[in-house]
Amino acid sequence: MKERDAELIVQSMTRHGLRITEQRRTIAQLFADASGFLSAKEVYLGMIDKYNGLSFDTVYRNLRLLEEIGVIEQFQFEDSSRFRVGCFGHLHHHHHMICLTCSRLIPLEYCPMDNFQAPDHFQIVKHKFEIYGYCDNCQQQGMGEAVDTMSA
Ligand SMILES: [Zn+2]
Ligand SMILES: [Zn+2]
Ligand SMILES: [Zn+2]
Repeated sequence: MKERDAELIVQSMTRHGLRITEQRRTIAQLFADASGFLSAKEVYLGMIDKYNGLSFDTVYRNLRLLEEIGVIEQFQFEDSSRFRVGCFGHLHHHHHMICLTCSRLIPLEYCPMDNFQAPDHFQIVKHKFEIYGYCDNCQQQGMGEAVDTMSA
């Protein structure tokens, strides 16, 4: 529960040397209130009432920035890319298992790149590695059988 606290998100921004503007505070609040993932558009819609003339670009740039410093994390879904509060305590590089039912994130210390030999001609800048499935809670509630279309 604690990691959903807006004040903790703001503190984490401060730790990374970000200036805390009213807009960034609002973004922190939106993520604290969200129960799962937020798209850039949802963040934008959550702010537009409060900030007249706010541009989508500004919102997006802020999200990018927060993602770069690990305050939020970005996930690629089939239809869109969405953001979530990062796993505090896992600010170093890490990956996740993601529950398709409840959106629970389970951090993984394992990084497949440790065992990956990149071809000489390709310069790797970053990578993504996510595992989708059902957490133990959701399996117990019988939600684990329905989907097998996501298998990679
Ligand atoms: Zn994480
Ligand atoms: Zn779950
Ligand atoms: Zn990795």
